[in-house]
Amino acid sequence: MDIYGILAFPAHHSLSPAMHNAGFKTLNLNAQYKTFEVPENKLKAFIKDVRKKRIKGLSVSKPHKQEIMPLLDMVDPTAEEIGAVNTVYWENDKLIGTNVDWIGVEQALLETTFIEGKDIVILGAGGAARAAIYALKENQAESITVLNRTLDHAKELANEFICNYGNLEEFASVSPDIVIQATSAGLNKKEGVEIIPGDQLTDTMVVMEMIYTPRNTRIIRDAQKAGAQTITGERMLLHQGAAAFSLWTSQKAPFAAMEKAVESELS
Ligand code: NDP
Repeated sequence: MDIYGILAFPAHHSLSPAMHNAGFKTLNLNAQYKTFEVPENKLKAFIKDVRKKRIKGLSVSKPHKQEIMPLLDMVDPTAEEIGAVNTVYWENDKLIGTNVDWIGVEQALLETTFIEGKDIVILGAGGAARAAIYALKENQAESITVLNRTLDHAKELANEFICNYGNLEEFASVSPDIVIQATSAGLNKKEGVEIIPGDQLTDTMVVMEMIYTPRNTRIIRDAQKAGAQTITGERMLLHQGAAAFSLWTSQKAPFAAMEKAVESELS
């Protein structure tokens, strides 16, 4: 049986096992997707094990997305540019790291809106924001502005990718077509956290959230109230998951089955 899994710490909250196992079942593949909850000081030993046991593929999440890079045989140019690995696969005898988070951002947006020609604000300046910038640049966004709690982090990112930056407070002075919520504020908090004032959202905006637990975060509720179009976090999860699935199995991911599994976990 082929073994895959999510490598993270903590990892128990992940929807990836349900999503990928539904995909394997639908295609009748002799494969299982597990949860590998590995602390930082055990990462090196775990990767040795991946090689020894020939684990077929990994999804990589916090806190390992950067630390795993030097432990692989190769990191592809996309992951190099984003600066993080979120998917690992074998190519012949080489363990390769790539990043498909950007495909998740791209496809989740394209379900609802064009990206080309749009003015876009990203809230947050961490790894997920980096993947978002990559997706927006690939799709010819008109302008990209990174707003972040810590200004220096926004500045660093904006200088690297050549885009605009500012504090979260500066949201009041920009009027974007699309807002991407890429901070971790409010993760796992049912009542949510206000990242920008809800009354600054308008019905002309598309608001995309990356957090999927809870599904209806504060910004999603505020955006709905304002009449904006909304994209919830599981759309990104599903699209990056489908991209990883195809890479691992060389088969088209059974998207509807994977979507059904995620929906059922969330409801
Ligand atoms: P990082 O830890 O790299 O970055 C976290 C970001 O959130 C930083 O910009 C940080 O700001 C900001 N932040 C944290 N707490 C607060 C707060 N209370 N108020 C304002 N800003 C805050 O995380 P990632 O970029 O890897 O992930 C971001 C989110 O995206 C996570 O919630 C993650 O679960 C989600 N995600 C979802 C995916 C999906 O498939 N749906 C895929 C990948 C990520 P500062 O610089 O000031 O510290």
